[in-house]
Amino acid sequence: MTTQSLFKRLGLALEQPGGCYSSTTWIRTTDAGVMESQNPSTGTVLARVYGCSDADYNTFVTGLQQTHTSWRMVPAPKRGEVIRRIGQALREHKDALGTLVSLEVGKIKAEGDGEVQEMIDMADFAVGLSRMLYGQTMHSERVHHRMYEQWHPLGVVGVITAFNFPVAVWAWNAFVAAVAGNTVLWKPSPKAPLCALAVQQLCNRVLEEAGYPGVFALCATDRVALAEKMVGDERLPLISFTGSVPVGRRVAATVGHRLGRTLLELSGNNAIIVDETADLELATRAIMFGAVGTAGQRCTSTRRLIVHESQYGKLLPRLLSAYAQVTIGDPLQPNVLMGPLIDGQAVARYRAALDEVTKEGGEVLCGGRVLDRPGYFVEPTIVRAQNHWNIVQQETFAPILYVMTYRTLDEAIQMQNAVPQGLSSALFTTHLRHSEAFLSAAGSDCGIANLNIGTSGAEIGGAFGGEKTTGGGREAGSDAWKAYMRRQTTTINWGAELPLAQGVTFGPTEGGANGASH
Ligand code: NAD
Repeated sequence: MTTQSLFKRLGLALEQPGGCYSSTTWIRTTDAGVMESQNPSTGTVLARVYGCSDADYNTFVTGLQQTHTSWRMVPAPKRGEVIRRIGQALREHKDALGTLVSLEVGKIKAEGDGEVQEMIDMADFAVGLSRMLYGQTMHSERVHHRMYEQWHPLGVVGVITAFNFPVAVWAWNAFVAAVAGNTVLWKPSPKAPLCALAVQQLCNRVLEEAGYPGVFALCATDRVALAEKMVGDERLPLISFTGSVPVGRRVAATVGHRLGRTLLELSGNNAIIVDETADLELATRAIMFGAVGTAGQRCTSTRRLIVHESQYGKLLPRLLSAYAQVTIGDPLQPNVLMGPLIDGQAVARYRAALDEVTKEGGEVLCGGRVLDRPGYFVEPTIVRAQNHWNIVQQETFAPILYVMTYRTLDEAIQMQNAVPQGLSSALFTTHLRHSEAFLSAAGSDCGIANLNIGTSGAEIGGAFGGEKTTGGGREAGSDAWKAYMRRQTTTINWGAELPLAQGVTFGPTEGGANGASH
């Protein structure tokens, strides 16, 4: 598929507006910043997208508030039917959208397609969920009373996304938020505006055909001031933010100050532990996918490898041999396993991390070079390092794997947990006691704890997110939908008396006293 035919298929142009809440409301602004969407494999510009102004933003929020007043009264299963139709449109455009993800953010095609598949899975999940927004009933302590809880939508939900999952993260949020009865304002990463535009076009079409335009709005901008305006906006009861810890801290502080809600999906610093009983063939494959896949640009990428000292000499040669076979290049070529980093800044951070770790005393075991060719290509790298080093404690969004050894499982778990982040973790073992220790309350402190599976590649059926500085948010499966709704407890008195809870009596009694209670 040529870029031209891809653009045509997805309704994209070389120059276009970056915001709307239906197909008739595209912005006309041209003086609020221009985002140049780049192909990171070549460094060439794919298209120019005009950013939204503050006035555009206000129009979107007002429009979404308006739509919400009717959308919240549409029965949830009917809202689910609309999302089912979006899922169908995504199926029809999977190849094109997957290609665009590869083109704009440099993921290999299989991963670009996988990301669209995740959106489709989320749509299916949300359709089912639309009939399962369950509340509980409780037994009242008062006679002729009934209690239950019900769940209502919040209103307009703000979704801010990172560059590395330019379409799936929005779907995790938007599809669940929509079946829950909310409308959604999306601020995508300025590094991936085309992916967001393609998704918005597709949704506009389906929403209009279904008779519900304006449920999803897009507000692309590269102006931090506008992103901060959105975060501080009291009209958005929930801000779901996916991105780095420093930005996440600011978002949490601003929304916390206005006593709004946040759902935070921030950085990870994920480790795989390989114990003395592990299947090294399985472990090697999982480490490769975790550390090299997506060029190390997943929140769940494997950044630390904690190996039992008896296995180090056996595992390392396997890894070195596997790393030597990684084909780096154009992510749309079928034999390529690793594409580029997103931009020049990411390459600079890769270099800076390697400089710092070697100054600390780290030994580069393979890789470590920036490739001398157009685009932002680096080599996947393994460094012998120590867990407490400053650079190892941080998330560098690049394919750098820090390797360290341990003697006892307690020591390994302690090392794994001894970082500020708490997203994903994995143990490779065939030892029952080790696996149970790892999964126990004294084991991994992460939101995700896997056995004989690597740290990345989560399924949407389980709630996704992490602890500590990863932010505590949960998205996708399980009961994560509750974050997008408000819980209301209701007590109904169907009797002729008015008994008070806790046996309190209030009002004139036979003896004339007021307000006696137990
Ligand atoms: P980033 O923090 O630079 O940007 C994320 C988003 O925040 C972008 O849309 C950006 O424009 C916006 N932003 C920037 N400044 C802002 C501000 N002051 N207020 C509000 N929004 C602002 O992150 P990135 O480089 O795009 O993505 C990589 C990071 O995201 C990594 O740390 C990665 O671990 C994390 N991530 C986490 C998850 C997860 O689910 N835990 C998933 C994907 C990515």
